[in-house]
Parts: sequence; structure tokens; C-alpha cells
Amino acid sequence: MTGKRLMSQYPASDQEFEEAFRTEQDCLDHIISVRWPEGPRCPICLHDKLWRNEKGLVLQCSACGHKTRPLAGTIFQDTHLSLKSWLKIMWHMMSQKYGANAIGLA
Ligand SMILES: [Zn+2]
Repeated sequence: MTGKRLMSQYPASDQEFEEAFRTEQDCLDHIISVRWPEGPRCPICLHDKLWRNEKGLVLQCSACGHKTRPLAGTIFQDTHLSLKSWLKIMWHMMSQKYGANAIGLA
């Protein structure tokens, strides 16, 4: 998952950001949808029905029981910041880098 890809679905303004990412679950849903655009699949048996455990931090395959951590291998993995804080920081950085808008870090 690259930052650029993560940003491609991003809102255009602070207000849109707040509306799109009200909760940590919203952020997690976004990260999962970016990582698996067609829905999460089990990497072992390719089953597409995964249960969400631990508030969505673990996806467990309903067929073979394999557990997938959607944040594993991303910068979100071991962070103490909230997902929303991370997404907002990345959004601001990308906005500036690509000149999509003039919003700076307040
Ligand atoms: Zn499986």
C-alpha cells in the first residue's frame, strides 16, 4: 500500500475529511478498502468471507480460520497515534506534495 494510492480516494477539504472519517472504524474501513478494493480475501484459501475480530484489527477466515491483520506491513502497524491522526497527517503531506490544494498543517 503506497501513500499515493491511499490518498487517491481522499476528500478535498478539512470538512470532507471530518465527515468521511468520524471514527477509527471509518479509518479502518478505508484502509481495508484501499488494500482490498474488491473486499478482503483469505490469503491461504482465497475465501471471501472474513469475520472481523478485535474491532476489525483482525480478519479471520470463516472457512479455514486463518487470521489476517489488515494493518500488518503498513505504517499503521505499531503506531500509538490514532488511525485518524495518521490519515490526516498523510493527507496533509500529500496535499502539499502534489499541490492538490493549499491546505497546510495548522
Ligand atoms: Zn481461509
